[in-house]
Amino acid sequence: MAMQRIGVIGAGTMGDGIAHVFARSGYAVVLCDIEQRFLDRALSTISKNLDREVAKNKITESQKSDTLKRVEPVIDRSQLANCDFVVEAASEKLEIKLELFRDLDRLCRPEVILASNTSSISITKLAAATGRPANVIGMHFFNPVPVMQLVEVVRGLATSSETFQTVRDLATKLDKTPVEVNDSPGFVSNRVLMPLLNEAMYAVMEGVATPEAVDEVFKLGMAHPMGRLPRHHARTAARTG
Ligand code: NAD
Repeated sequence: MAMQRIGVIGAGTMGDGIAHVFARSGYAVVLCDIEQRFLDRALSTISKNLDREVAKNKITESQKSDTLKRVEPVIDRSQLANCDFVVEAASEKLEIKLELFRDLDRLCRPEVILASNTSSISITKLAAATGRPANVIGMHFFNPVPVMQLVEVVRGLATSSETFQTVRDLATKLDKTPVEVNDSPGFVSNRVLMPLLNEAMYAVMEGVATPEAVDEVFKLGMAHPMGRLPRHHARTAARTG
């Protein structure tokens, strides 16, 4: 059955971006969070980010308003019961996600795929909280979601090939580029990023270069347009050194 209605859980930084890209691609989105103020904030962020796309002539005003109309904010999780696919982007805490996956398993039709946008929690562990581990997968978007091209599609131990193919195709329909990754700490992106950041901070601590110089190396020599040393990390490293 074609997917039409997408559930997104968590309306924070990632959830609003994920809702944005699904709605922009024509899907009806049910966006769920625990308090109205988080939903209000998410809708206002989506609206502002769509304004940027209008300003850059990527979409028209009427596409913007159609996109916004497709996002239905809800607090009551049972509204996700008739979704055809659910992606969880709630806070990065194991107990929160386990509770959500148990409950989604109870709420959603058995064939529905449950995906997580987690950066660091085992997909296999989340899948084991459900009675449908073959239908559980990682769909790891990057921030800011409407802009970043990559989606790591993460196979848990029990994820079926059918589930993988469905989610890979779904990422393509969102105009993203999916890459196949097996469940492993940090997947690929954070596994390679974290040692890189550590080394950048060691270079500052050991007096090899200033934080600003390290960032110039990242920006101009390695095409990382925003640099890599968040200002507070750079300051801490410099102080410690
Ligand atoms: P965030 O703190 O901005 O948003 C999390 C949202 O989840 C909050 O609005 C919170 O109220 C909501 N929430 C918490 N418990 C909930 C529940 N039981 N039901 C519904 N909503 C609930 O976090 P974020 O940065 O958007 O991260 C969300 C997920 O995405 C995490 O798993 C994180 O690891 C992952 N992720 C984050 C980034 C990033 O750059 N921020 C990138 C990739 C993946």
